[in-house]
Amino acid sequence: MSSLNSDPHEILGISPGATPAELKRVYRRLAMRWHPDRSDHPQATERFKEISAAYEQLLAVDAPDDEDGETEETASAPVEPEESVARAADIRLNLEISLEEAAAGCRKTIHYTRGKDCPTCAGSGEHGMARTRFCGACHGSGRVHDAKRKLVHCDDCGGRGFFTERICPDCGGSGRELADVSLEIRVPHGMLPGDELRLSGQGEPGDDELQAGDLYLTVIIHSHPLYQLRGRDLHFSMPVSALAMIGGGDIDLPSLSGVVSHSLDAGPAKHQQLRLAGRGFPGRGKKPAGDLVVDLTPVFPRQLNARQRKLLLQANAALLDDASEALPEIADWQAAHGGD
Ligand SMILES: [Zn+2]
Ligand SMILES: [Zn+2]
Repeated sequence: MSSLNSDPHEILGISPGATPAELKRVYRRLAMRWHPDRSDHPQATERFKEISAAYEQLLAVDAPDDEDGETEETASAPVEPEESVARAADIRLNLEISLEEAAAGCRKTIHYTRGKDCPTCAGSGEHGMARTRFCGACHGSGRVHDAKRKLVHCDDCGGRGFFTERICPDCGGSGRELADVSLEIRVPHGMLPGDELRLSGQGEPGDDELQAGDLYLTVIIHSHPLYQLRGRDLHFSMPVSALAMIGGGDIDLPSLSGVVSHSLDAGPAKHQQLRLAGRGFPGRGKKPAGDLVVDLTPVFPRQLNARQRKLLLQANAALLDDASEALPEIADWQAAHGGD
């Protein structure tokens, strides 16, 4: 047995990260199994003491740790302060949605697994018929050789040669029954990656002593073929006709709320960034909507047909007519070197 074992986590068979609720649950199950009044195992008393001591030890250590952990984890979420009622464990899952779904809000059906107490054994892990298991140490004889090769009483089984166990056939002694859950949830608009949704009472189920845990969903937004989300700003780049830039034409910009028409300021054809305030990812609570930020790259015409060439040359002739304004370098050069 584990009398040499001094790590309370190992004694209880839980991970060092276990919550107080998990700790309590595990302790209750083990205590029920090993209580000397309930178990006829020869080492039940010893085991029960060991379990109780480990539990007391972890209670003393875990209490402040857990408070710190809760504060950190829930700092960014709209969650009220931790209540003092003991709760079953929380469940944390990722919620993957598209950028459009995150922006507008959506309904989703999520599927996950949570445990509840096995109904057959009510979570104790033991039920029904006793099962006999031969003692491995003495191979069922009840006697072993000691260091001096004398036959002595087997300590493991108390000389009986076998153990009597009662293990619930429905849960294999774990005391838990896993249930598949489908839950329809509403995702409010404007959730950003990393934001958390809390669904109260949808974590691990409670019982007469524990309140049900909560379900936390962390929003993950799929990468988008066009937009990049930076804060609440939506960035994208697009090519624009250099002539539209020069002439100050209208361009259509895609946004999450539909196409936005924008009049360019007439100016040189060069790489430029447009920022349309409030046309990016929607706001939420006190956070205002982001901007739509567009990188425009000028594109010069290629492969002109006859009509396009004619119109362009007409435009060029009109520019040359007023070259001192429209094409000043050409006007200056002609003044210096061109002879009429
Ligand atoms: Zn069971
Ligand atoms: Zn034995």
